[in-house]
Amino acid sequence: MQFVVKCPSCDAGLPVEASDAATAIKCGRCGREIPIEVSEQVRSDTAVDRCPVCGGGDFYIRKDFDPKIGLTVVVIGALVSAVFYWFGLDLIAYGILGGAALIDLVVYGRLKDLTICYRCHAEFRGSYPRTASAFDLHTADVLEQEYERRIGRR
Ligand SMILES: [Zn+2]
Ligand SMILES: [Zn+2]
Repeated sequence: MQFVVKCPSCDAGLPVEASDAATAIKCGRCGREIPIEVSEQVRSDTAVDRCPVCGGGDFYIRKDFDPKIGLTVVVIGALVSAVFYWFGLDLIAYGILGGAALIDLVVYGRLKDLTICYRCHAEFRGSYPRTASAFDLHTADVLEQEYERRIGRR
């Protein structure tokens, strides 16, 4: 699997291939050395059991969704339907608008889930089975603060 480390200093996203990960990576933007410890499960793409960056074992999943793509479909749909609306073809206009929303839904439904570390926000992509639960705001609040105190951000 591949995971993306969020640099604690500058928040840059640093992609790492788990199968040949070293014991530390260097941030390409600010030069900070970030020690990582990839567990056997992560390395072999069987499960996300322990975060290589912060050592935490609490994760959530969300759709691997780029909001920009969804927005583009809706915006283009709205523009095209506005043209039809202008020419008095409002039924077609509504049809196109509905179609754009539908495409959005279909695209969203086919997306794969992404596992994210509550503490350091590392993202994990791979073919491992998703076992984490959905995002919980309270858990995030507690764990994020704990991590930020640890790395000296608060
Ligand atoms: Zn950095
Ligand atoms: Zn983490």
